[in-house]
Amino acid sequence: MAALPAFQGKETILDDDRAHYPPVDPVRAGLAGRCPRCGEGRLFRGFLGVASGCGACGLDYAFADSGDGPAAFVILIVGFVVVGLALWMEVTLSPPLWVHFLLWIPLVVILALVALRLIKGVLIALQYATRAAEGRIERRP
Ligand SMILES: [Zn+2]
Repeated sequence: MAALPAFQGKETILDDDRAHYPPVDPVRAGLAGRCPRCGEGRLFRGFLGVASGCGACGLDYAFADSGDGPAAFVILIVGFVVVGLALWMEVTLSPPLWVHFLLWIPLVVILALVALRLIKGVLIALQYATRAAEGRIERRP
């Protein structure tokens, strides 16, 4: 397939990667917190910090920039689930207010942290798989 004129001569390292590594399912690798190229090395350093590179294949994770994407998904998904449960409980059981605080605050914190790591891993793996990057304008001299 011929490259578009704007991209001729710009074939990236990512194109070469696909010839040396079998395809890795980005969702599976992201959920497991594994390298999006080889599926073996760790993606995270600590709980939410992205490592500098893959320990197994040497892929540099400098491209990884999920930005606010994981937080937006977490807010939407966890908010939907927890607010739905809280409303359901209030309508059906009408517990005192302290029961709501006791249940939903810890649940929100735990779900948000777990979901944040999972979604961040998936978004970074999808970023690698789709070669998504910040848009740039090429200036010709
Ligand atoms: Zn790797």
